[in-house]
Amino acid sequence: MERITAQFTSNKAERLVAATIRLGRDEVHRGHLLLVNAMHPVRSVKEPAALSPVAAAGGLQVLGPAIELETVCLRQLAALLTAVQALDDIVVVSGYRSQEEQQAIYEGSIRDSGPEYTASYVALPGRSEHQTGLAVDVGERQAGELDFIAPSFPDHGKCLAFKETAARYGFIQRYQEGKRALTGIACEPWHYRYVGTPHAQWMERLGYCLEEYMDDVKRFEFAGGWLQLDREGTRAAVYYVRAEERGLTEIPLPVCEGYQVSGNNVDGFIVTVYGIDDDETKGR
Ligand SMILES: [Zn+2]
Repeated sequence: MERITAQFTSNKAERLVAATIRLGRDEVHRGHLLLVNAMHPVRSVKEPAALSPVAAAGGLQVLGPAIELETVCLRQLAALLTAVQALDDIVVVSGYRSQEEQQAIYEGSIRDSGPEYTASYVALPGRSEHQTGLAVDVGERQAGELDFIAPSFPDHGKCLAFKETAARYGFIQRYQEGKRALTGIACEPWHYRYVGTPHAQWMERLGYCLEEYMDDVKRFEFAGGWLQLDREGTRAAVYYVRAEERGLTEIPLPVCEGYQVSGNNVDGFIVTVYGIDDDETKGR
């Protein structure tokens, strides 16, 4: 069992800025932590996300040869399936969808299953996180035909192992029971979303859906306390930087061994830093 400790770093009146990076407003709509829902549609960016065919990853069961996922998401999915020894038992049912594909799926669901069912399980075109390449629908491999919209993904066996291990590889079950008022979508045991670590573990630990996490993370700014997560000796801290309405946003970075920046698809950037100075991370 992995040991995770989460705490807030102490407030610091003055932090040492070791480096600054500057990002344009477009970058708010790029990264692994994009929040996509009915209120926050997918925004087109200059370059499409880097996509890779699932079938080419080797060893994964996939419903069709054309299914693609964002490259890091696919790599982590393959690692997760390997870790829980489920390469033969879990099928990738759906991945990246273009606007046209989401439109066709939405219209097909309205026609075949009616508006009530569709509103519960199919996002409006332009508002599906499948359009980012970061969402994947998985199903239990079975003899009969898999349900494309709602594949079976039960709470036992390899599927349960996948669910329990997903956060370590950066995945969250995006639509959980009891969160529909926030997510707009009913419980979907089969829909996983790549957000990366340590974010997935933090969300799991607090029982947050992505909407709650993105809201909460705004409390942590560079000049204040940071969200910190220690996992098996790896320490990561997280803070938020609001994007400038116009021009470039300056993102301050502390002395660290590595960092990642992701837009939130709404109004700012989430910065994850690794290997920060011990002084910076005294719990309170
Ligand atoms: Zn899905």
